[in-house]
Amino acid sequence: MRVLLALDSRRAQEWVRVDARLISIVTRILLPNWPMSHAIVTSIYRSPAEEEDIYEKTGYKPSGIHSVGPPFRAVDIHVLSWDDEGVMKVVQRINREWQYDVKRPRMRVALYVPHGTAPHVHLQVHPRTMRRPAVTERGLPEEV
Ligand SMILES: [Zn+2]
Repeated sequence: MRVLLALDSRRAQEWVRVDARLISIVTRILLPNWPMSHAIVTSIYRSPAEEEDIYEKTGYKPSGIHSVGPPFRAVDIHVLSWDDEGVMKVVQRINREWQYDVKRPRMRVALYVPHGTAPHVHLQVHPRTMRRPAVTERGLPEEV
């Protein structure tokens, strides 16, 4: 089944200015493995005023990464709950294949932990974000 990426008109305009690595992560990993028929993009760019609004409504202080760019460095994708096993698998795969920042190894490209306004997967990249070297199933570097 082909999973459709759903963008409203604002998000469609922003999508063309999203960092190429994020587009690759969404189109090559997320969409082919997504457990729903649509992947609905709910947030790309947010103005400082929109960030402030989230802070006031939720008490959750946004990191500010949605206000960086273009190229935009964060994308939120709607999910139905915070504990969907299929979504969790996609998130784990993204983080296995991509490293957010070699200097901050605990930071992740894909986040699926309760935060913000409603259940969603948060994807982010940094200037140092890169694909990890290919690994075998035993976790050893692949011989070239
Ligand atoms: Zn986000």
